[in-house]
Amino acid sequence: MSNDDSIAKEYGSRLENAKSYGEVWDIVKDSVNCSLHKRRSGMMLFLDDLPLQLGAYHPIGTNNIVLNRRLVQIVEVALESKRALNALVYNLLLHEYLHALGEYSEVAVRRLVYKVSEKCFGEEHVAAVLARKSPWALLKGIPLEGVDAPKRIMEIVKDFEKTDRYIV
Ligand SMILES: [Zn+2]
Repeated sequence: MSNDDSIAKEYGSRLENAKSYGEVWDIVKDSVNCSLHKRRSGMMLFLDDLPLQLGAYHPIGTNNIVLNRRLVQIVEVALESKRALNALVYNLLLHEYLHALGEYSEVAVRRLVYKVSEKCFGEEHVAAVLARKSPWALLKGIPLEGVDAPKRIMEIVKDFEKTDRYIV
């Protein structure tokens, strides 16, 4: 087994077993650190019900990422696949993390999302496939129930970053 294979295996199993946004976030940061040698800490995650075509966003100049709770819940219910769901969340958070690291071009960010996913997970992994196509490839053919549900209040994700780990 080559070194790349064992890295891909380790990232794959970490992502599959991640049980919280914080755990997926750790994988986002590690994968960017490992492939692009960049890191930023102190980010906060909020969940909000957004239009389905918007996965997440990062208001420039803040430490915040807002993730589309409605989209995540629709995919969660429809797919019943932790693997695909975590790959979607990974993909959306990675995209916003790259913006937060200072890359504001959409084209460049999409290219980097693929580069990081492919390098860390291997090109066959669902994380790399979603990066190559689009996260919305997951929604193809699934009934969009709950789209018209009333918008709920925005919430903050507690314990998103284990900040104490990054004090040096
Ligand atoms: Zn973007």
